[in-house]
Amino acid sequence: MTFRLALLLLLGTLLLAGPCPAQPDTSDAHEQARHEMVRTQIADRGITDRAVLEALRAVPRHRFVPDRLADWAYTDRPLPIGHEQTISQPYIVAFMTEAVQPDSTDRVLEVGTGSGYQAAVLAEIVDSVYTIEIVPALARTARTRLDRLGYDNVTVREGDGYAGWPERAPFDAIVVTAAPQQVPPPLLDQLAPGGRMVLPVGPVREVQQLTRLTKAADGSITRERLMPVRFVPFQRD
Ligand code: SAH
Repeated sequence: MTFRLALLLLLGTLLLAGPCPAQPDTSDAHEQARHEMVRTQIADRGITDRAVLEALRAVPRHRFVPDRLADWAYTDRPLPIGHEQTISQPYIVAFMTEAVQPDSTDRVLEVGTGSGYQAAVLAEIVDSVYTIEIVPALARTARTRLDRLGYDNVTVREGDGYAGWPERAPFDAIVVTAAPQQVPPPLLDQLAPGGRMVLPVGPVREVQQLTRLTKAADGSITRERLMPVRFVPFQRD
């Protein structure tokens, strides 16, 4: 048998064998889990804003948790991210994002970057996101992660978010993901007319009230209680 014939036979065998069976691809598995998460944990529980649902389908949550927890990323729970902090349950992220009524032209402030996940969800919807994290190591990791994933409309700053980010104010929306006992007045000052702020307010390590404050064009504030929640404490420098 000539070399050429052997080669033909080999090729024929490969062709007959057909394409390789699909390998279990972890990114596909994560994508499937993510779509399932949006359907069962988010849409079925009443979140209807299309942009919010689309954002949760788009952001690879498994890239925002420690590697060993990647397979838990799409489960219905908060997860530890180190430094005694947590990434919120997906439903809470979706709920807060919808509650702050994000618009594509908005400039948004987040206090409590943590993993960077909430910032990424916002960044899928709005023009620009400014986010502040008090734990230096978390701020650094989140910045690297968001850069790698291509979120170039997110700016991460390390520091105490109590004072907000006056150089970038006013903000159309503000999301606070740690619970202060009272609404920080500087954040309210930095809300634009027509702006919305969503934050948990209440005692440390107990149940807090997720609260929305809306600033009217004349500067007056409307305050609504949205639901009871449990967040990590808002720390001060
Ligand atoms: N949004 C985050 C959830 C983070 S948990 C995510 O999507 O992963 C709340 C975060 O707020 C923690 O990382 C905590 O360190 C941070 N934090 C607490 N007090 C803060 C403050 N005063 N200023 C900025 N960040 C604060």
